[in-house]
Amino acid sequence: MICAKCGMEHPLEEMELTFRRPDDAAKLSEEERLRLLRDNSDLCIIGEERFFIRAVLPLPVESREDPYCIGLWVEVSQAAFDRIYDLWESEDQGLEPPFAVRIANEIPTAAGSLGLDAELRSSGPTVRPRVFLKPTSHQLYAEQARGIDVHRVAEFTALFA
Ligand SMILES: [Zn+2]
Repeated sequence: MICAKCGMEHPLEEMELTFRRPDDAAKLSEEERLRLLRDNSDLCIIGEERFFIRAVLPLPVESREDPYCIGLWVEVSQAAFDRIYDLWESEDQGLEPPFAVRIANEIPTAAGSLGLDAELRSSGPTVRPRVFLKPTSHQLYAEQARGIDVHRVAEFTALFA
C-alpha cells in the first residue's frame, strides 16, 4: 500500500526502536562507567543513587493489531526499583499498582520525551514492563492515546539507520 503522506511504500516493520542504555548512562566517560555503572540488559544503576528499568512504550498503530513498541528506559525511585527487583520472577507482579517513573531517553523524532512523567505497569515475569505517559501536551502522549499511522512507524524505525 502506498503511503498517502510521502508516496512511499512502508513495509510492515517488525523491528522496533530500542535504546541500549538510559541517556545519562550513555553519556558517562569510560572511567565513570567503570566506577559508577552497574547494569545489564534490564536494569541499570548509576552511582548507587539513580535507578533505571528497561521497558517498552507501546503506540497503537492504525490498521494493525499489534502496537509499535519503543524499547526505552525509565528512571524509578530506589523503593520502586527494589520492589520491581523483588518481584522480577513473580507471577503476581501484574497485581502490583503502577509505578511512577520518568522517561530516561530522548527520542529524536519526539523531542522533549526525556523526563516525561509516566506509569510503569508490569504484567508478568516474561514480559517487559510497559510504559504509559501521564497526560501532557507533548505529542507522544497524544500518539499513545490516539495511535499512529505506518508513516510515523517508519519515522521511528528509521532512527536505527
Ligand atoms: Zn509515508
